[in-house]
Amino acid sequence: MTRSVAADIPLSVPHLAGNEGRYLSECLESNFVSSVGPFVERFERDFAAVVGAKHAVACSTGTAALHVALQVVGAGPGTTVATSTFTFVASVNAVTYCGAKPLLVDSERDSWNLDASLLYDRVVEDARAGRSLPDIIEVVHVLGHPADLEPILELRERFGIPIVEDAAEALGASYRAGALTGRQVGTVGDLGCFSFNGNKTMTTGGGGMIITNDLEKARLARHLTTQAKLAGREYVHDLVGFNYRLTNVAAALGVAQLEQLEGFLEAKRVLAHRYRDSLGGLRVEGPPYAPWANPSFWLYSILLTEQDDRDRVLDCLQAAAVQARPLWFPIHRQVPYAAAERLGGDVADDLHRRGISLPSSVGLSAEDQTRVVEALSEALDH
Ligand SMILES: *Cc1c(COP(=O)(O)O)cnc(C)c1O
Repeated sequence: MTRSVAADIPLSVPHLAGNEGRYLSECLESNFVSSVGPFVERFERDFAAVVGAKHAVACSTGTAALHVALQVVGAGPGTTVATSTFTFVASVNAVTYCGAKPLLVDSERDSWNLDASLLYDRVVEDARAGRSLPDIIEVVHVLGHPADLEPILELRERFGIPIVEDAAEALGASYRAGALTGRQVGTVGDLGCFSFNGNKTMTTGGGGMIITNDLEKARLARHLTTQAKLAGREYVHDLVGFNYRLTNVAAALGVAQLEQLEGFLEAKRVLAHRYRDSLGGLRVEGPPYAPWANPSFWLYSILLTEQDDRDRVLDCLQAAAVQARPLWFPIHRQVPYAAAERLGGDVADDLHRRGISLPSSVGLSAEDQTRVVEALSEALDH
């Protein structure tokens, strides 16, 4: 007897259902396929309008966006950047590219993001003792849930520490209570960065964006992404820049994806609510949903109990053709960062030990989602 094998349910794949083909054809017909062309500026303008920022600078990747944004606020040799230990490695690699040192801060339980009060207390204590303070805070909004930014804004206020937001995973997330009500992630710090990698909420194949309300910072960021070449005929460069500009082809995809963003975010909300309702009977803990937050539910992630063997559950899901992934291996446990300075780390370790992300593609059908829940339920019964 043969058993039909169901197709894999992917973790997170692009949804290309709009004007992508049409805009790509325009690139080919106009011969504008590289970093010059009308879609790059159009994508920047449209993106800035959608998130509510004054300026946007398109980059070749989200990692490149972070690298440049950190340089714009002065990251370099001899400086320290406080950031999350519970994040994707690119957040911290960007710090290292600048020649700066990371200070790896543990997560808080309520949002899984950087524990702002842990960092706040440390900075205030260091200031009192006359020790040096972090030069920059890079706040990551992990898995689409906004970080608690109010204590961090207070640190900027009191000590002048600039903020870069790594909003790579959180496009569309915002604040719904407190002083930041209505603000989108990425628009609160000095600069905010996004990623359009293939698994993110919207994609350009590969790409990123820096946003800021400060014209000078936007100019410097754009200058750094385009080899720091001065205007004019000669090849004159006043800084060591990068070849980080987004191509017109990628930006064409970006414009088309951005037109569909509202629908994507709605689809993610529906997915999250359905998961929440259908996982109610299982012994798992749902993702954070702080009372002040409007998450974008990039990857719907859950925590298993201490008794469950996470790897066994992942193996069972894999056998059922369901692509699930563990949450991040904390940065303080990664070889290149084993000696980095850190503040705590137990919460990040616990999230890693117990956490998995479930399939969360915009195009995931209700039927496939039921299959995921059934597979998870069976895996937990094993
Ligand atoms: C995806 C991601 C990045 C990097 O973006 P790329 O476009 O893949 O370079 C940075 N930070 C976080 C938190 C991410 O998830």
